[in-house]
Amino acid sequence: MKQFAKKSLVLFIALFFTAALSAKTPKYIFYCIGDGMSFAHVMATQLFYENGNYEDGNESLVFLDFPVRSAIRTYANNSLITCSAAAGTALATGHKTNLAHIGIGPDKQPLTSVAKQLRDKGYAIGIITSGQLDDATPAAFYAGQMRNDTYQIGKEGADSQFDFLAGSTLMKPFNRRDPSQPYIYDYYRQKGYTVCRGPEGYNSKKNADKILLVDTDTTLKKWLPYVIEREPGKLGLEFMVQAGIEKLYKKKNKKGFFMMIEGASIDHASHPRDIATAIKETIEFDRSVRLAYEFYKKHPDETLIIVTADHETGGLTIGETTTHPFNWEYVNYQKMSKESLSKLFQKMRETGEIDTWEKTKKILAENTGLWDKIPVNAGEEAQLMQCYYETIVKKSSKQEITLYAKSEPLVADAIALLNKKIGVGWTSFSHTGGFVPFYAIGCQARQFGALNDNIEIPNTIRKIMKIK
Ligand SMILES: [Zn+2]
Repeated sequence: MKQFAKKSLVLFIALFFTAALSAKTPKYIFYCIGDGMSFAHVMATQLFYENGNYEDGNESLVFLDFPVRSAIRTYANNSLITCSAAAGTALATGHKTNLAHIGIGPDKQPLTSVAKQLRDKGYAIGIITSGQLDDATPAAFYAGQMRNDTYQIGKEGADSQFDFLAGSTLMKPFNRRDPSQPYIYDYYRQKGYTVCRGPEGYNSKKNADKILLVDTDTTLKKWLPYVIEREPGKLGLEFMVQAGIEKLYKKKNKKGFFMMIEGASIDHASHPRDIATAIKETIEFDRSVRLAYEFYKKHPDETLIIVTADHETGGLTIGETTTHPFNWEYVNYQKMSKESLSKLFQKMRETGEIDTWEKTKKILAENTGLWDKIPVNAGEEAQLMQCYYETIVKKSSKQEITLYAKSEPLVADAIALLNKKIGVGWTSFSHTGGFVPFYAIGCQARQFGALNDNIEIPNTIRKIMKIK
């Protein structure tokens, strides 16, 4: 009888702790969003790693080993193919809305983000992106506006009173329609923020209460320079995430923290079908998630990490035919993004700097590895030469126009050839409507195991955080 009582007591304690553990609320939440990151982007980056191109000895993207994995739908209220505004709103608020709507429903009524709800519950909040802070994905966590009302979105970032805001820049520092409105960085200062520029700026001011961290380039209107061409020591996503973790973890008067991390330029590189640039951006995103994972290892019972995407971009495929060769190491030979190479060619074309095919070929070779390190057959070279004559000698062809950039036709053809030789295909210059990946690890991660739609992510966060 005594033995039975003892066993019952052990069972009771075990059940009690299991129940207590399953009801536990995460203290630290990382919500990581790869903008435009499809299963194929993850696979391409994984294959790049597996074929000897390890980053710091890593053989796999860190989140591929997370125990909870699924696929989620991304459609908008009025379109199967979503945009970052509608998808960001779904991921932040748990509501489907129309394209270009940020934090507002199809009727333009404001919706509430989980970040604001957690702020009100006493959590420190961090919003971090390699893109502009007033662009759609980060904005969906603090603003309620149409996408083109960028100045107002920027102001709402300061109004949010979130503890740590970091991104490339605020793209609309002035309100051109109403000049009486303040310069946006002054507005942040008025609202109690310390504005830091670049890693050095942050390091000298990091004891400030509320931080707005942006790039040192005050003329920057875009996302951070792509990883493939970024100068060492410049602001990057990893630095922002590391700084954010340190900053938010120190806020001991708070219940814990919630951090949104966006790898914004996976999308920007995929619109113009630039796989080498997209893979380098996915690596930076993976390395940023790895920082969250290192934190999780120190606080495994209190940390939840979620990794997902807002939509797919480019219709990326691994291979175009069954006999397709794969050469992942060719990714390393591209020295600048397609966008920057296009700008370089445009300038040289306009100034007449490239006046022979040999000179043109040399510049292409230096920046893509074609000819120098990657074999190009006579037929492929003839096609590029024909493009050179039409667009540079005869100046007769139009540029390839995608959402964020105009590409020189010769650069577009050279990068398309490089993509083919690496082994990938593309079907779109825009977003597509397929499933995107979802991964989770840590406290209450199992609650996310059966999700199949993006709105269920914030709704599940609400459930586990006991937010009504
Ligand atoms: Zn996009």
